[in-house]
Amino acid sequence: MEDCLFCKIVGGEIPSQKVYETQRVLAFKDINPQAPVHILIIPKEHYKDILSIPREDDILSEIKEAIEKVAEICGVKESGFRVVTNCGENAGQSVAHLHFHLFGGKVLAWPAL
Ligand code: 5GP
Ligand code: ZN
Repeated sequence: MEDCLFCKIVGGEIPSQKVYETQRVLAFKDINPQAPVHILIIPKEHYKDILSIPREDDILSEIKEAIEKVAEICGVKESGFRVVTNCGENAGQSVAHLHFHLFGGKVLAWPAL
């Protein structure tokens, strides 16, 4: 999609530090990390948010596979990690292309609200 930051990252117009990639999913380091490990996991296809995925699309199972691979690659699969997706204004979603934050590498504060 035109004028979408993460579509531009998928297309290579904007550089990113890739951690993991499949045909449909890309994972890259967040530019402003909030934890020692902070990775963004996105579908390459443009969906605005989690509610925009069509019922017949199984992208969430591919995202789940990517979450496990990224956790392994970043060394947090055993120690634990958190996955967050912000949806809409009140949640603070600032990029309107579905993305999952994976945080780890330290004891994470909870509740995080
Ligand atoms: P949101 O606030 O929408 O849940 O998360 C958007 C995330 O994208 C933020 O954590 C922000 O740091 C990250 N981000 C914004 N612009 C860029 C960029 O150009 N490159 C990368 N790697 N991350 C970005
Ligand atoms: Zn997009």
